[in-house]
Amino acid sequence: MSVYTGPVFEMARQQFNIIADHIGMPEGERDRMLYPKRAVTVAVPIHRDDGSTAVFQGYRVQHHLTLGPTKGGTRFSRTVDLGEIAALAIWMSWKCALAGLPYGGAKGGVTVDPLALSPRELEALSRRYMQEMIPFVGPHTDVMAPDMGTNEQVMAWFMDTYSAYQGKTVTEIVTGKPVASGGTVGRREATGRGVVHLVRRAAEAIQLNPLGATAIVQGFGNVGAITARELAQQGVKVIGVSDHTGCLFDRRGLPVAEMERYAAQHRGLAGFSAEAAADPETLLTQPCDILVPAALERVIDAGVARKLSCRILAEGANGPTTPEADEVLRERGDIYVLPDLLCNSGGVIVSYFEWVQDLQQLFWEENEVNERLGQLLDRAFHLMSTRAAHDGVSNRIAAMAIGVEKVFAAKRLRGLFP
Ligand code: GLU
Repeated sequence: MSVYTGPVFEMARQQFNIIADHIGMPEGERDRMLYPKRAVTVAVPIHRDDGSTAVFQGYRVQHHLTLGPTKGGTRFSRTVDLGEIAALAIWMSWKCALAGLPYGGAKGGVTVDPLALSPRELEALSRRYMQEMIPFVGPHTDVMAPDMGTNEQVMAWFMDTYSAYQGKTVTEIVTGKPVASGGTVGRREATGRGVVHLVRRAAEAIQLNPLGATAIVQGFGNVGAITARELAQQGVKVIGVSDHTGCLFDRRGLPVAEMERYAAQHRGLAGFSAEAAADPETLLTQPCDILVPAALERVIDAGVARKLSCRILAEGANGPTTPEADEVLRERGDIYVLPDLLCNSGGVIVSYFEWVQDLQQLFWEENEVNERLGQLLDRAFHLMSTRAAHDGVSNRIAAMAIGVEKVFAAKRLRGLFP
């Protein structure tokens, strides 16, 4: 099983072993639970605008098929490798199980800097990646969605490419599509909305009044920007924000709506304000009430964890906190952690709603989407909180234990064939 390497996979493995120990999973069952069922790597060739040919490495990992199709995003990023994609697929499994969705986890990606491609090249890459994946995906096999570096337009190209090969429109092959091509209302906002819904629950738990509370958001993509917007709408003062191009900090509060417009126009926050420009290295450790890492994995290590100065850590990103940092947070005991598995699950929950609507060709109103999203998040939040209190463990261990146990129980009941 040594094809899966690298620090992110190691982290997923380490976390899994902590959970397996906690729930007393027999040693002999662990590999079957942890290692992905399928991993596909593909070469994705495209014509560049200058007439040359470039080949990119693409991946798709399907973690387990025990509960239904696999589900998960597709990431276009320079740092993508097989170990990272496998870790993200594993985390998707626990996330879907915690939320009660009938899916295993998956993740895919291409090692590419999407900002270095022209729009035509991005379309060529997206279509060819999906075309290479046709033998391995399907509405009842594996359903893709957006992740870092991909968006609604990319999902529309995926859906169109898959459909062209089937000779009919198959909207249910991907989620996170534009509403005009079979997407659902509320999906674009779902992850950020979910983060803020759960921040409200966490604030209630520690008796923090969101009105006038301060927040810092790392990442200003779909998750970070919408989280910042929704926090501001709740009366929270967003004092720090960063993306891969720039970092802004102002104790008096930042103009989130203006920043969103600016970032959309300029492909990032760089140059928004010279006065508020700040050092991204120290952003996470600035004092604030609500800290939202909504970018990369492993940004909070033990050193950063010791210096954190927030009351709620709301993990919009997948895997932002290392197991060593978790240990520090446990010792400190003064930060309420909303673990990624729960905190960013609004995205995949509304993806599930999109898939259901596409299968039924029966579309919901936005208030229905949001209401059902709130219900599923509240149920998962309640399960996690009760379990954490009962077992005397962190929210992360509780959330992950619930997810792992669900998959484990289903595997046991189905048995091992032949
Ligand atoms: N990429 C997102 C995640 O990691 C969404 C996945 C989905 O909607 O299937 O949760």
